[in-house]
Amino acid sequence: MSLDELYQEIILDHGRRPRNFGELDGMTHEAEGFNPLCGDQVRVHVLLNGDRIEDIRFSGKGCAISTASASMMTQIVKGMTVEEAFELFERFRKAVTSDSDGEEDLGELGCLTGVRRFPTRVKCATLAWHAMKTAIAGGGKATTE
Ligand code: ZN
Repeated sequence: MSLDELYQEIILDHGRRPRNFGELDGMTHEAEGFNPLCGDQVRVHVLLNGDRIEDIRFSGKGCAISTASASMMTQIVKGMTVEEAFELFERFRKAVTSDSDGEEDLGELGCLTGVRRFPTRVKCATLAWHAMKTAIAGGGKATTE
């Protein structure tokens, strides 16, 4: 199995069986993200305790890439401080948009960096992250535009 195939397998698995999917009881922050190019709609629910993301879940409907990205995002940022999560978002955003093939250590998120070859898919991959940031920054609507 090539690396590309393995990555695809992981994305499909998250797309089919998203982790942390559903409403979150006791959430303190939430925001909706919408990607009009693809029709992805994702709602991110966050439970902040001080500046730590104690719990995070997502709901909504989107393509396999946006669902997989939301699923991975919730797994990874859970337990992080807000600053750590925002910093990781920046690194992830750079990794999926830059032309360089620099190997950033993003763990499982590395699976998604293949989207940089498909500019319209970049928005699918970053949608849930935008929504997470918008939620924590005060809520409302996040869009990829
Ligand atoms: Zn999409």
